[in-house]
Amino acid sequence: MNTPAASLESIPVRQIKGVSAPKEQELHAFGIYTAQDLLNYFPFRYEDYRLRSLTEVKDGEKITIQGVIRGLPMVARFGKGKARITAKTEIDGQLVTAVWFNRMFIKDQLQLGREITLTGKWDAHRMQITVVDSEFPDKGTAKTGTLQPVYSVGGGITQSWMRKTIRQALEQLGPLLQENLPEQLVRKYRLMPRQDAVFHIHHPDDPKDGQGARRRLVYEELFLFQLKLQAYRMMNRRKADGIVHRVDPEIIRQFAASLPFELTDAQKKVVNEILADMRQPFAMNRLLQGDVGAGKTVVAAIALLAAVKAGHQGALMVPTEILAEQHMRSLTRLYEVTGLQTALLTGSVSERKRRDLLAGLQMGLIDVLIGTHALIQDDVIFRSLGLVVTDEQHRFGVNQRSILRRKGPSPDVLTMTATPIPRTLAITAFGDMEVSTIKERPKGRIPIQTHWIKHSMMDRVFGFIRREADAGRQAYVICPLIEESEKLDVQNAIDQFVQLQQQFPDLKVGLLHGRMTTSEKDEIMKAFGDNEVQVLVATTVVEVGVDVPNATLMIIMDAERFGLSQLHQLRGRVGRGSHASFCILVADPKTETGRERMAVMQDTDDGFEVARRDLELRGPGDFFGTKQSGMPDFKLADMAADFAVLEVAREDAAELAAEGDFWTSDTYAGLRAMLAKDQIFQGEQLD
Ligand code: ADP
Ligand code: MG
Repeated sequence: MNTPAASLESIPVRQIKGVSAPKEQELHAFGIYTAQDLLNYFPFRYEDYRLRSLTEVKDGEKITIQGVIRGLPMVARFGKGKARITAKTEIDGQLVTAVWFNRMFIKDQLQLGREITLTGKWDAHRMQITVVDSEFPDKGTAKTGTLQPVYSVGGGITQSWMRKTIRQALEQLGPLLQENLPEQLVRKYRLMPRQDAVFHIHHPDDPKDGQGARRRLVYEELFLFQLKLQAYRMMNRRKADGIVHRVDPEIIRQFAASLPFELTDAQKKVVNEILADMRQPFAMNRLLQGDVGAGKTVVAAIALLAAVKAGHQGALMVPTEILAEQHMRSLTRLYEVTGLQTALLTGSVSERKRRDLLAGLQMGLIDVLIGTHALIQDDVIFRSLGLVVTDEQHRFGVNQRSILRRKGPSPDVLTMTATPIPRTLAITAFGDMEVSTIKERPKGRIPIQTHWIKHSMMDRVFGFIRREADAGRQAYVICPLIEESEKLDVQNAIDQFVQLQQQFPDLKVGLLHGRMTTSEKDEIMKAFGDNEVQVLVATTVVEVGVDVPNATLMIIMDAERFGLSQLHQLRGRVGRGSHASFCILVADPKTETGRERMAVMQDTDDGFEVARRDLELRGPGDFFGTKQSGMPDFKLADMAADFAVLEVAREDAAELAAEGDFWTSDTYAGLRAMLAKDQIFQGEQLD
């Protein structure tokens, strides 16, 4: 009788032969705790020890070659403890000089007539090999003829120890590796079986074999990642424990008619998508993307209205207080005709006010609560939270969103972002969300003209400010944030502020930075909003969402320090009214991509196009920095190189999760167990 197969995850790495207690500690630093972790510790490249002949190698190449020692070793000492050993070696019928540096121990092994394999750099002119590694066939040649894995190592873990230990683990526990992909997919893509793949990624027979192993393991990694998202999504739909918002279309029509503008077709389309989801019995999880100024706020306002009219409450969570206050103002204005009660909750609301507000919220006197992170505190309790909207999603962690979500039984969630990405990317990267996109901007907007200017031409910048100010318009001057030193940033902004004050004694110049108190910030934003301040010098605190339609000039200092999407966001602060607007990038970029970014900004003011070019410049890997997207750090897969695989894996995972069989058949019990272990189901029973 076989003992039941132990799971590799439950075998501590210590149980592998050769792993002592101190070594185990060292392995922990690499995130290796279990046998599974060790087997999944893949090499990042290989060293080629395959035998070649002298005729096929070029000067300067690294080779592994077999020969016979024909001359006694000669030692030359130089410097302190340094030595050079040479020995004439016969290779392919020629006499070659083998050279070792600082390997005194090798001397006694170099006996006349002994066979040896040498690995090193070939110098064709001197007929010489500088040896980095050698083996003697009479002692066994473990490396010769192979591709040797190269692992990321350090501390007390050496390359050769890691090789030996992983090899040992493969021999000892390799048979426990089980296929974890559905058979039909293994067949469809002719994937290497898992056991083979794990073995061959560590020890490929040849490069093609290594690639085959990698192909299989990359697919596995991406498929399992997508399966989690897709299963979560299906589960959510099957559970159907969301709120069915019964929305009277007439109320929505009336509200739309009360707006000072007509909704664009794109807005109408996404409103319909959102309302259709809200009527469903499962909880909505939808991403709303649209360029800056596309008009996402009013879409959110309609969705929140629908939730309230269906008898529930809504929450709108934004990343900054300035933005929260602005949303508070615009929603209160939009809702004037509806009788909806809005309230603002931020960190700077006084304790007394906060208490009243929380009581009102719990009693259902407040319909829509707008605020910052303050919304996710424990004592914020809704009577019946039906819809959560978060704005500028990349600034919130997935965790914060899910805490907010848990404040209702299973509220609908709408996530808004102004960093639009192509649809295929979006549905792939945010695999558990539905995606709505506002493509067109409201009509009648005059495109923003963007100019790139060198620091030496600041006079032209002053000229721009003068011209706009004389026409009654206003300007932003943005100073970059230097991560390491907030103090320096602030100083930088203050210097700019002083200089502009001197330059324009007749204008009111304002200053806004992160070190100011909330009430100071509010005051200055209000003054800018009321055109009491004409020129606002600010660090990036204004980046998100600020809406001052009379501002027509955006000047970005040291623009090369900003990423493309951030530049585009900043630029979106102007061009919000009926006047022509300008964006001036002051920059002397030192790198090619820096110049490229300035060029992209001058070429287009379409956020999707900016995102596309950004993606081109950086590649999806960087574009989806884990911080921004919530994408996991893949072990093997590379978001840039393997993006096509990710798309395929997503389709396969979605298809599988949609099959009834997946949720019931024994065939998929292993995959379901894996999902359960990853807490995809948050304690719910599956079968
Ligand atoms: P964003 O998508 O960047 O959040 P906003 O919702 O702040 O954009 O909208 C930008 C501006 O456009 C606001 O002043 C808003 O009132 C206005 N707006 C929204 N929709 C329309 C529309 N259909 N027609 C004209 N103006 C609109
Ligand atoms: Mg907005």
